[in-house]
Amino acid sequence: MIRNYRDLTRLEMEQVDKQETIVLIPLGALEQHGNQAPLGTDDIIAEAMVKYIREELEKEEEDFPMLIFPVIPVGLSTEHRNFCGSITFRPDTYYHLLYDISVSLAHHGFKKLAFLVCHGGNSPIVQVLSRELRSELGISPFILSSGAFSHPDVKATVSEGNIWDFHGGEMETSMVMAVDESLVKLDTAEAGIPAPFVNNKTLLPYGSVSIGWVSEDWRTAEGKPIGIGGDPRGATAEKGRIILRTSARALIPGLKEIRDWKG
Ligand SMILES: [Zn+2]
Repeated sequence: MIRNYRDLTRLEMEQVDKQETIVLIPLGALEQHGNQAPLGTDDIIAEAMVKYIREELEKEEEDFPMLIFPVIPVGLSTEHRNFCGSITFRPDTYYHLLYDISVSLAHHGFKKLAFLVCHGGNSPIVQVLSRELRSELGISPFILSSGAFSHPDVKATVSEGNIWDFHGGEMETSMVMAVDESLVKLDTAEAGIPAPFVNNKTLLPYGSVSIGWVSEDWRTAEGKPIGIGGDPRGATAEKGRIILRTSARALIPGLKEIRDWKG
């Protein structure tokens, strides 16, 4: 049965099968997402993803053994720190925060922790952490990426010519609109491109030769740092629903394999 971790009483928690139950830990961020989208975009997406994942699992199985941990609302957002409103942990703080939560869960007997990464900047910490937890505690930490951004149905939502769509772009803005359109101010939207890299063939913000990019690298066509990739102006709530639903569905086979994992 899927339940919110925080809703259980102590007595109910004592009854949970800790060997088989997955604790899904959604990892958000509180950081700038351009002019138009809220600072809590990744937290809002994390909450929505959890809802869609739950719906998809419950369609198929009545008794899927999973507890949903509260969204961790702040993450590693160093790259956005100079833009107003962005909040970040230091890398070691974030590592230890997640480490301590994991140790507490392992202390109570949980063996399967699944980190749902809803902000790319959190990934490196979670990757390092998951190996340490597995090696030190003998538990199984899994990593799930929240957005199926390479799925054809998701790609099809992106407007033609919007080739840099990424952080704070059309896809993320659409997902927020799917939750609450009033949180998005599309009339203020401007497009962003990775200006220092656009004439490069090899050195790019990501790929085989890259740099630790910062938000200031993403600029408007006029050169003003805007901190987002892509053009959010084509965003719609319907596109957001497609992205959320497709991304949730893409994770279901993996979650079932995590349930069956014997490690
Ligand atoms: Zn985001």
